[in-house]
Amino acid sequence: MRLILLGPPGAGKGTQAARLVERHGIVQLSTGDMLRAAVRDKTPVGLKAQDIMARGELVPDLVVGEIVADRIEAADCARGFILDGFPRTVAQAEILKDLMARKGLTLDVVIELVVDESALLGRIEKRARESGAAVRADDTPEALKKRLEVYRAQTAPVSEYYRAAGLLQTVDGMLNVDEVTERIEAAIKASVA
Ligand code: AMP
Repeated sequence: MRLILLGPPGAGKGTQAARLVERHGIVQLSTGDMLRAAVRDKTPVGLKAQDIMARGELVPDLVVGEIVADRIEAADCARGFILDGFPRTVAQAEILKDLMARKGLTLDVVIELVVDESALLGRIEKRARESGAAVRADDTPEALKKRLEVYRAQTAPVSEYYRAAGLLQTVDGMLNVDEVTERIEAAIKASVA
């Protein structure tokens, strides 16, 4: 099973992806996690991405595309994967399409978590508090404002892209965490069956 989780920062993508990993034995591929690891390890990609990420802007499409291309070839992806945080632009969606076509893979479903924007800042502040000090350089009010702007301008069109392709399913991300999981499972069943 290969799926994409879409939704703005703080929508609960990471939490839900972790649950899907457990239930379905597939892997979670978070480009944000991969980029944070690259920053931590000071790799060439990390050095390029660090300031861009701290500002809440997007790392160039080709850079992220290459990271994903390398990752989905790994043996642990054979049973499937959940893309969390990718694609974030229509250009990335096109890159993914080509990439998967070359590997003979198909996408089963794209699930968008739809949330009230006014709730997001509170959720992210909670995440920052619960994990102690500023674990993420981009969980500041300024960077978050930028991340939401970027989401509206560049990532919202990705939903329309997948709607047009007949792959999009929307789930109300304002429900409680368990209810959201159940709705995602129902959306998967309806698409994969
Ligand atoms: P996330 O953990 O998904 O919120 O990602 C954190 C930051 O990493 C984003 O604000 C971007 O700067 C960068 N990033 C993650 N995924 C992508 C992507 N698919 N395209 C461009 N930048 C990304």
